[in-house]
Amino acid sequence: MKKCTKCNTLKPINEFSKKKENKDGLNTQCKDCDAQYRLDNLNRIKEYQKEYRQNNKEIYAKRNKKYRENNKDKIANTKKKYAQKNKEHIKQHQKEYKSAHKTNIAKQGKDYRDINKERIAEVKKEYNKTHKIEISKKNKQYRKNNKEKVAKQKKESYYRNKENSIKRQKEYLKTNAGKIAKAKVQSRRRNDYGYITLNNRFEGCNGHHIDNDRVIFIPLDLHRRYPHRQSNPDSMVEINEAAFEFMYTTGINNIKNIQLY
Ligand SMILES: [Zn+2]
Ligand SMILES: [Zn+2]
Repeated sequence: MKKCTKCNTLKPINEFSKKKENKDGLNTQCKDCDAQYRLDNLNRIKEYQKEYRQNNKEIYAKRNKKYRENNKDKIANTKKKYAQKNKEHIKQHQKEYKSAHKTNIAKQGKDYRDINKERIAEVKKEYNKTHKIEISKKNKQYRKNNKEKVAKQKKESYYRNKENSIKRQKEYLKTNAGKIAKAKVQSRRRNDYGYITLNNRFEGCNGHHIDNDRVIFIPLDLHRRYPHRQSNPDSMVEINEAAFEFMYTTGINNIKNIQLY
């Protein structure tokens, strides 16, 4: 048996840990007191660290802030690298999160939109109103950059509901904007083509292009009798014959420029 110097209790030898430096090769304190000392010490150290952090909170915060400010690029880079390195992991995580909260997320969004319907509409309207030029510029740029895509979409949407589209087109052509647009197209077409007239104009006449440059004036009803388009040469045969026939039968006085051809 041996008496512990700390708790002054008589204890069996195996209750003391070994210590070579001592005469009897045993520690002066018992194992329980050893353990208690370590525990007390550990708690004291922890307590001290906690207190220190608490007392220097502002300094830590300032230091962190300064570090973040001075190392913006580095931090951003690290984040980026992390994101790249863990791309799949993050993706997977997001996917899992989304799928786990799917109904919840969808519901939250829908609830929010439902509750704020009018406000959202108002904000949208207001935004559209105050950003008119910007939006129209953006749209124009988009149409310019995506010509083929836009044309395809237009065509598809036209054929998806052909009857309605034709009706709408007719209605549109009746409006002022529609009339202006139509005139623009016609004038562009006219500018693409030459305008060499082979005969004289007359009341109620209609200029018909027999080719890209030459025009014969014919009556409106004759012009409309043969639906045709320059881009489709086959459709031009009959109308051209009819136009020449009309021009020659109206008498030689009516014909001009014919010596050119
Ligand atoms: Zn003891
Ligand atoms: Zn024509």
